[in-house]
Amino acid sequence: MSDLPLRPELVGRTAYGAPQLDVPIALNTNENPYPPPPEMISEIGRRIEPELNRYPDRDAARLRDALAGYLSEQTGVAVGRGEVWAANGSNEILQQILQAFGGPGRTALGFTPGYTMHELISHATGTGFIEVPRDGLLLPTDRIVAAVREHRPDVLFLCSPNNPTGDSLPLSALEAAYNAVAETGRGIVVVDEAYAEFASVPSAVSLIAGRPRLIVTRTMSKAFAFAGARVGYLVADPAVIDALQLVRLPYHLSALTQSAAQVAVSYATRLTEQIRRLCDTREQFVAAVTAQGWVCPPSDANFVLIGPFVDPPQAWQRLLEAGILVRDVGLARWLRVTIGTPEQMTRMAAAMRGLEDLRETT
Ligand SMILES: *Cc1c(COP(=O)(O)O)cnc(C)c1O
Repeated sequence: MSDLPLRPELVGRTAYGAPQLDVPIALNTNENPYPPPPEMISEIGRRIEPELNRYPDRDAARLRDALAGYLSEQTGVAVGRGEVWAANGSNEILQQILQAFGGPGRTALGFTPGYTMHELISHATGTGFIEVPRDGLLLPTDRIVAAVREHRPDVLFLCSPNNPTGDSLPLSALEAAYNAVAETGRGIVVVDEAYAEFASVPSAVSLIAGRPRLIVTRTMSKAFAFAGARVGYLVADPAVIDALQLVRLPYHLSALTQSAAQVAVSYATRLTEQIRRLCDTREQFVAAVTAQGWVCPPSDANFVLIGPFVDPPQAWQRLLEAGILVRDVGLARWLRVTIGTPEQMTRMAAAMRGLEDLRETT
């Protein structure tokens, strides 16, 4: 690529690339290990719009109605179609937010370790990205407020539960962050709730009323077991959704995606049981590896960090040789492990026994 006339801010950057390897046990991208039920798949087959010669509904009205109904039920906050917007994965949602509210001459701010796509999509949209370290793995409220006052970002990214650390932010932290941004007289606050269904804290959706610059992003990729379909959405004041119409591509969400997602949302009640099962499996796994002397910082999501390793890349490699793919998120002492089925996690816990020579001892 070296002699291509690439935009200068992209030169030397690496593309997003979680390895997609063919392994017996993939615990690396926080997918739901339970495939959707067969009756849902056949219903999707039946419901696919026959009118594929026509462009889809640009406004995805019926899907947004379905998502609004789901959100109202899941969060206990009444949400209407006008406050919901959908796109091809929450990554496209994030891109549209940055296209509308970021861009050249503007900055986004995120905390690390955090979700790396916040930074990558910022660069791709010409938005400057300010990286502020968390306090170790955690993000105290005063650090958020101080960072906002110092940098006055145009877009503030908060991730709750945070990927890869797994901790959630309490509503009080989100309120304080919003107030700090409001004091600067500029800026949008984005709360990335990709793992909200697994969390034990209330959703930021409950804060949207009266906060016109708050956006909550969600995805069907994790709890919904629908990563392959690429559906993400956001909740915000209707004025935000109007603004996003200026940057979205016409007909961005295909008729296939819209009808498949509507069917998937109608199966949402089965999620509650499955989410409980995943959280139980997480706690069982944490108990098993803790008994071996490992540490897993508390997680509110369908993944955990595990360590401390003296050499995470070597531990990653050895797990791969044992047929288990986890994620090296670039942290000095930790690897990230997605919670799979109980059988997969039993094998993962057994594989950890072979890594004791790589455990950091203090
Ligand atoms: C997985 C994940 C997403 C999901 O992205 P999609 O494009 O919806 O698949 C968004 N945010 C975070 C923090 C994630 O971990």
